Amino acid sequence: MQASCLRGAILKSCFHTPTYASDRPHLMPYTKFTLARYACDPDQSLGRRFAQTPAPTRSAYQRDRDRIVHCTAFRRLVYKTQVFLNHEGDLFRTRLTHSLEVAQLGRSIARSLQLNEDLVEAIALAHDLGHTPFGHAGQDALNDCMAEFGGFEHNLQSLRVVDHLEERYPEFDGLNLTFETREGILKHCSRRHAEQLELDQPGGVGQRFLNRTQPSLEAQLCNLADEIAYNAHDIDDGVRSGLITLTQLQDVPLFAEFMAQTLAEFPQLQDHTQGRRLLYESIRRMLSEQVYDVIAATGAALRDAAPPNVQAVRQLPGLIQFSVRMRGKSAALKSFLLQKLYRHPQVVQTTGQAQQVVRGLFEVYLHQSEQMPESFVRRVALAHAAGADLENATARVVADYIAGMTDRFAAREHERMTGLTLLG
Ligand code: MG
Repeated sequence: MQASCLRGAILKSCFHTPTYASDRPHLMPYTKFTLARYACDPDQSLGRRFAQTPAPTRSAYQRDRDRIVHCTAFRRLVYKTQVFLNHEGDLFRTRLTHSLEVAQLGRSIARSLQLNEDLVEAIALAHDLGHTPFGHAGQDALNDCMAEFGGFEHNLQSLRVVDHLEERYPEFDGLNLTFETREGILKHCSRRHAEQLELDQPGGVGQRFLNRTQPSLEAQLCNLADEIAYNAHDIDDGVRSGLITLTQLQDVPLFAEFMAQTLAEFPQLQDHTQGRRLLYESIRRMLSEQVYDVIAATGAALRDAAPPNVQAVRQLPGLIQFSVRMRGKSAALKSFLLQKLYRHPQVVQTTGQAQQVVRGLFEVYLHQSEQMPESFVRRVALAHAAGADLENATARVVADYIAGMTDRFAAREHERMTGLTLLG
């Protein structure tokens, strides 16, 4: 049997493909947008891990989105850091507002390209569910703590949240999302973890990291929308915090171009009291330009490649893209933010304290697992009873517990356990 046929056979045996029930004839079925032939069609979904009757009024991807919005991990995103720690100010982005902005940008682009907006929205809202408290600093610290126990990757953790950790349904763990949403959530994955996923679910979402193939266009789009969103809002938050200035931003071509354009059109914004309007208008124009650029460059790539369906998309190189010119400008903006904002001494100082909190919590729970809530203690016992090494099982459950914490809960819990106030 050819490899591709084998994969098809495995997928059919692992995933349930829905057929729509008509036991509620009075309810209108969902309206389908006009989808391009290479978009993901919910009626052709590779299905859910556990068979479920389709919803009468919502497509499979609308249902995924609704499950994500109602889950516990999603609500916690409001108190998780993007760049600035949650207690540093009420107006900075959090993981929740970031995810909403990614969904907005993703949907705008998806509609123009006739991709599936509902799927884009579901992936965008779920893409950061596995993030630890304190942003990348927290994730790096937790990954260090987990070095001997298989490591910690936030994309994989997002998948773990929707596949295993949410406890909301009587019949299964997790949210039982469709293959396509899960494929989009697992944006990156190390080879080691992909092999493990493939062992657990042959032909599943880990396989593309072993075959080096692409995910759906909706998943590719969420990656780029993520990047566009954080580049723009980190400029806004960076200026708001006073760590970067409009003067410094004049050296960043992608921003400077639109600031000059805005000032030429509205010279009254030269007045220093109008700095905020100047900033917002420049960012707005910069965002629009990037969105139009992705639509144009991707539209051209799709016309050239002409994939007949999503299976063909998965075998091609990535198709969602910036033009070469915009890619260069976006890279220059990223490098500016890295040097001037993410590595700013004030950001580095707070992230250092945040890492200390994560390391401190990990140490305590690893050696005193009874300090965790009862449901986590029970999970350690269950894993151990199923044959897992006790220390390994404890470490993974501790990582799940810490990753699920909000910034302020982690800081408070650390203070309670150690008596040290690091992030007051
Ligand atoms: Mg993100």
